[in-house]
Amino acid sequence: MSHNSHNLEMLREDVLAANVALSRLGLALFTWGNASAIDRELGLVVIKPSGVPYDMMTVDDLVVVDMQGLPVDGALKPSSDLPTHLALYKAFPLAAGIVHTHSTYATAWAQAGLDIPAEGTTHADHFYGSVPCTRLLTDAEIDGDYERETGNVIIETFKNRRIDPASVPAVLVHSHGPFCWGTSAMDAVHNAAVLEEVAKMAILSRMACMVAKDGPPPIQPHLLARHFKRKHGENAYYGQQ
Ligand SMILES: [Zn+2]
Repeated sequence: MSHNSHNLEMLREDVLAANVALSRLGLALFTWGNASAIDRELGLVVIKPSGVPYDMMTVDDLVVVDMQGLPVDGALKPSSDLPTHLALYKAFPLAAGIVHTHSTYATAWAQAGLDIPAEGTTHADHFYGSVPCTRLLTDAEIDGDYERETGNVIIETFKNRRIDPASVPAVLVHSHGPFCWGTSAMDAVHNAAVLEEVAKMAILSRMACMVAKDGPPPIQPHLLARHFKRKHGENAYYGQQ
């Protein structure tokens, strides 16, 4: 086996593991997600095939394409999101792996058309600022080379807002969902999982703020004391003595 084909074999193993991890981590129901990785020396991308269930997928199902998206190896059709992945690989040289999901909480922010604001240390540990949400696509972009335009609007967002894709390795596509990248396919999965968690925390912390303003009154002090003391302390009587 040549050096190059050995590298490509390892890349296939990584991409398979990353796709399976999307399903195992609960980031992708059915076939609603895809992971890819790039070998920049060879100029080849390995990506999930379109519509194959994660639990049936083998390394041989993965599709290898060149930077124009032309198939080099694999009998199956590549993920329909391939042109988005290719656009991001071209624009973000640091990306070695890319993941797309419709994970629930991150997608909720995308559907609201909102950035995920940095509101706590979990976010700050991973993302240096808000995770941006793109603008809406135009009708012409939707009717045109839709998946490539999805990549373009992501690139435009980072450029216009001067966000460093190395410091914020994730984006929300408006009305759609997240794309994440990383130093490998697995690192991109990791970022997708962290993104989902901070998206969930941001929604729940906002709900907690709303609830705090308009919540029920606290329990009566007497009822609180009765319940606590029947289980705790020297006069406790709950349970078998
Ligand atoms: Zn999608």
